[in-house]
Amino acid sequence: MRGLMQEWPLLCHTIIDHAARNHPDRRIATRSVEGPIVSTTYGAVRQRALKVAQRLAGMSIRAGDRVGTLAWNTARHMEVWYGITGVGAIYHTVNPRLFHDQITYIINHAEDRLLFLDLNFVEQVEKLAETLKTVEAFIVLTDRENMPDTSLKNAICYEDWVTGADGDFAWVEVDENAGCGICYTSGTTGHPKGVVYSHRSNVLHALSVNMADFFGCSVKDVVMPVVPMFHANGWSLAFSAPMAGSEMVMPGRNLDGESLCSLINEFGVTMSAGVPTVWLGLQHYLQETGKKMPSLRRLVIGGSAVPFSSIRFFEEEQDAHVLHAWGMTEMSPIGTFGSLKPEYAALPREERYAVQTKQGHSLYTVEMKITDDDGNRLPWDGKTFGRLKCKGPAVAKAYFKGEGGEVLDAEGFFDTGDVATIDENGYMNITDRAKDVIKSGGEWISSIELENLAVGHPDVAEAAVIGLHHPKWDERPLLVIVAKDGKSPAKEDILGFMTDKVAKWWLPDDIVFVDEIPPTATGKIQKTELRKQFADYTLPTVDGPR
Ligand code: AMP
Repeated sequence: MRGLMQEWPLLCHTIIDHAARNHPDRRIATRSVEGPIVSTTYGAVRQRALKVAQRLAGMSIRAGDRVGTLAWNTARHMEVWYGITGVGAIYHTVNPRLFHDQITYIINHAEDRLLFLDLNFVEQVEKLAETLKTVEAFIVLTDRENMPDTSLKNAICYEDWVTGADGDFAWVEVDENAGCGICYTSGTTGHPKGVVYSHRSNVLHALSVNMADFFGCSVKDVVMPVVPMFHANGWSLAFSAPMAGSEMVMPGRNLDGESLCSLINEFGVTMSAGVPTVWLGLQHYLQETGKKMPSLRRLVIGGSAVPFSSIRFFEEEQDAHVLHAWGMTEMSPIGTFGSLKPEYAALPREERYAVQTKQGHSLYTVEMKITDDDGNRLPWDGKTFGRLKCKGPAVAKAYFKGEGGEVLDAEGFFDTGDVATIDENGYMNITDRAKDVIKSGGEWISSIELENLAVGHPDVAEAAVIGLHHPKWDERPLLVIVAKDGKSPAKEDILGFMTDKVAKWWLPDDIVFVDEIPPTATGKIQKTELRKQFADYTLPTVDGPR
């Protein structure tokens, strides 16, 4: 017998409809790319999204067509997303920090018919325009007053374009399993691959990640998504926050400590989310100025492992609860959160922080397992490392146009490429990327754990660990360090600091100091570059015993 409940398709526009119906005047403040802070509401965003959809339909953009966006977090960018999905088309977020030929590759691969771009990307796109084969028009996200002279063919001023429509338009109803968004993986090897979200996966993921132990967005929150909408589906916040009716603050292009602190304090931000490097910048600013952010209650940190020292700082100095999140573009993107289960809540502080450094337990919509290289399941004992694999309604089953071939195992799980342990309480702990783990004498050493430990040293700003070839052990760790301004710690001092905190055989065989560690376009450590840089480096232990 079938259930007798209504079939109400899970479509993205239902989220902005809900927000506009129930929270029409809730504010969305944006630090605009032009400079001033501007405010709008869910009611107005929905109205303008309808106009975007109407205009797109007028340009013959149809269900399934791809439309690119190259833009910071602003209310305009959000209304463009809803307008694109509302006409049944697919938003393709382009990361401006990719190399030019990667931007060209992904726009051509996605066959974007239009490109919405922020004012400050006009020059960059002018240089590429000739290579973009499918883009018919460029819509600059600004008003007439700020519209630049540009060589872009068919350049359109967004405000003229959108305000010229009357908004008398009905959303295009598509199947809930239809594609609605594409985000390309950062592609450290080979070309980036496209992950295609469906309406259903976005809605289910936004619901699931909004539960109290995860984002927990509520109508009482003021949510500031710092993670850009062009990173991993913007961590879903453009869906989760309106779904909850939270007030929003969009930081635009200025993600430095001072700009973020001033927005948090001006608008009483209660929850924010971003990558560790951004929060390290904020942390340094707060330490230098002694400023406080009394409204901030929850700080979500993810995309890379959270240093223990950041957890301690935000918890103790700012009274903000740190929630460590793990996920990936292929997972819409959140998989787990290191929120504290009651069994840990009463632990002494330092032990609690140690639990928070784990990537945590999974959302309802994510099933996890760890396996050995032959696919056999490994125990959840908190010690055994294995390949982390996931399954769920918001986890990719293939890449766009079949790139990369079959990506699921026989049980339908996606291999995340991460290596992890899972403990008895379901807390997953990433020990490495499968390709970064250091294989020493048949055992694995976690580069991430060593990096976290090293940045806990008071004179260390950034740290990266790579495995270098070793004739006896196969690989041994080299620790690469950027010292804090004005500091020059000695190798012995750093090694001394790390000793006793990890197994002796995990300690790096050598330490080198550099001025800069190259970041990837998504702010992670570019280990491929470091490996090239130190390809000929000989570890001092090569000729002697460890
Ligand atoms: P991306 O698709 O660019 O978001 O990259 C996803 C990858 O980032 C994951 O597979 C992990 O290797 C890494 N990652 C994301 N979150 C974390 C985290 N909290 N701790 C450690 N690594 C992370």
